[in-house]
Amino acid sequence: MTAANACAYCQRVAKLTREHIWPASIVRQVSGRFRYNANRTKLLWSDLVINDVCQSCNNGPLSELDTYGTQLFETYFARYITEQGSVCFEYDFETLARWLLKLSFNAARSVGSDAERLSRYAPALIDKAVDLPQDFSIALDLVLPSDIPGVGREILPASNRLCRIEFTNGVGDWCTVRLVAINSYYFWILIQDKPDAEVDMHHAQAVLSKIRGTYLEPSATRVTLMPSGATTVEIHKDAVPEMRAKASKTAALQYRKGFRR
Ligand SMILES: [Zn+2]
Repeated sequence: MTAANACAYCQRVAKLTREHIWPASIVRQVSGRFRYNANRTKLLWSDLVINDVCQSCNNGPLSELDTYGTQLFETYFARYITEQGSVCFEYDFETLARWLLKLSFNAARSVGSDAERLSRYAPALIDKAVDLPQDFSIALDLVLPSDIPGVGREILPASNRLCRIEFTNGVGDWCTVRLVAINSYYFWILIQDKPDAEVDMHHAQAVLSKIRGTYLEPSATRVTLMPSGATTVEIHKDAVPEMRAKASKTAALQYRKGFRR
């Protein structure tokens, strides 16, 4: 049983701090980019906050992960991929995985879904000496802009999203799928909750067919990415029910407004 005022990462009872889910350094850069359209920034980069992390976790190991995420933002995510073509993505798998899992764990606690499942990674997220469980894989897709019929305007994949992907008819009962989307870059995290032997093949195929992009090999340090063909509108259409169900009423409202423009 966890004490009510215990840190979600180290479990110590300590003074808990208020933390933004997206690193402030990234939000600042995005705000700068949309300086002349403050409304849009507000709509698309919602400012989710959690307050169950202690100062030493927050300012220490978790902030180091954000430093890495910010570097990736500056090198890759800040620029939209607007046409077919390859991108060479260089990464440090251990640090990247820890950063994506931290973002997902924080978001999960803020909306109350998957928090229990993702908490299994917490010890490794605050201590590099602790091995990450090897029960997940990551695929990365590049999402292209799309035209909305009748609007006659290109819609850039200008958003940040952290969510759980829902499956119907029990096809996803063996796994947890999380999306971390930053502009054109869509990270799909597949966590296997059951051993291979227990997974229905058809269910496995149904889930895998939803996950697009290139598998990130844990032992590699670079990968050549090609857009799968997924576009902004197509992706976001899928997410609407999820947004409505899981996100706050405000976030869902913001999301719809963002597309009505
Ligand atoms: Zn802590």
